[in-house]
Amino acid sequence: MKKWIFSLALVFSISVTDSPIQNMIAHDHDVPPQRLSADDHDYLSPHAVNSGYLSIKGMQLTGFNKEGLDKLHYSFSVLEQVVNSEEFKDRVINFKNSKGERAFASNNGLSNEEIYEIFMEGRETLQPDTAGEMNFYLKLYNKSWSKVIGYTTPDTNVINLNWKFFKNFKPHEVASNLAHEWTHKIGFGHRSAKEHDSAPYAIGYIVGDMAEKISQAKKLH
Ligand SMILES: [Zn+2]
Repeated sequence: MKKWIFSLALVFSISVTDSPIQNMIAHDHDVPPQRLSADDHDYLSPHAVNSGYLSIKGMQLTGFNKEGLDKLHYSFSVLEQVVNSEEFKDRVINFKNSKGERAFASNNGLSNEEIYEIFMEGRETLQPDTAGEMNFYLKLYNKSWSKVIGYTTPDTNVINLNWKFFKNFKPHEVASNLAHEWTHKIGFGHRSAKEHDSAPYAIGYIVGDMAEKISQAKKLH
């Protein structure tokens, strides 16, 4: 249980404690998760895997002001666009870890495509009857001295987000963090905040990378 608690936060804080959080996030996004290309022999065609459709639902959003709620809802819409895309499917099922294998770390013995299908099922461990939905129970808290962006524990649906970081996050960073935390809600963990190949981290990075491009494209139009 402990290993889940500090979630996405520590990876941004361990190495460069004095830097602003944005710099650390930018650093992480310099290296987007690797994936197999269609030329690789073990590339899996997205057509071979069922998609499903996930709706994002804000079930309980506690502690957000108007501005925060607006950002959250924008992040939800970008997240929904990302997870239901063919590119997301391709990037998850063809995710390549740092050893060059088509596998996530701490994968509970499951293949990439099995993890993708579980993700797209939308059945949280504690709320298995809501298929097709990413249900978010979010609670904002404020600890100005803390380096934790957000955390959750396996015994609750609630994801806690630190206002200190949330207030400065761009929507794609919120979407990335939400994807990371929600991947915990469907039963996947990581051994440490440095396990970038784990499903929560890698999927969080994929979502962040794609959500940033979508946000930029929206601004241009
Ligand atoms: Zn985590």
